[in-house]
Amino acid sequence: MSKFEFKKLPYAFDALEPHIDARTMEVHYDKHHRGYHGKFLKAIEGTDFEGMCCMHKVFENIDKGNAGIRNNGGGYFNHNLFWNSMSPNGGGSPKSKVSEAINKAFGSFDAFKEKFSDAAATRFGSGWAWLIVNKAGNLEVCSTANQDNPLMKGAENAGEPILGLDVWEHAYYLKYQNRRPDYIGAFWNVVNWDAVEEAYEKALNK
Ligand code: MN
Repeated sequence: MSKFEFKKLPYAFDALEPHIDARTMEVHYDKHHRGYHGKFLKAIEGTDFEGMCCMHKVFENIDKGNAGIRNNGGGYFNHNLFWNSMSPNGGGSPKSKVSEAINKAFGSFDAFKEKFSDAAATRFGSGWAWLIVNKAGNLEVCSTANQDNPLMKGAENAGEPILGLDVWEHAYYLKYQNRRPDYIGAFWNVVNWDAVEEAYEKALNK
């Protein structure tokens, strides 16, 4: 089932040091992410979801599935986006089109960072912060609980996610313990703005 493949991490476990530590990356990718992927494949076995083209279709029909499909399918997709949202050559500021769109939607890059960081910090319990392209084609910041995402049917803020930050404790506890804001601050040093630019253009051309 190559359409739901388990993708290789695009960099080494220690590549994002010191911002994201190697041990966290290893456990996160090799245990958590692999677990979501395996359980997702198990959960769709023998269901209509098995024949769907892609995760987008799965999420459009998520109300017809069960909790296993929702949680593990979300976990599988969200982490793929998360790994791609980061790079050892990341950080700095957004590229051309995303930069323009951020200024248009939020006023400035700093104002956007503050809004996104706030969404990540105030998401109670486990979840994700997102930058999405909404139905009107504008950028929007939001957060979701657990392994939900803005592509799932019924999402409060619907749209195509182009940047995602995992704020589950498993994403930062080994290095940052309860200091989620420090982890969020460190994330900006590794954001892969080239990947965000690419995802943005893809989302607009959908
Ligand atoms: Mn995670």
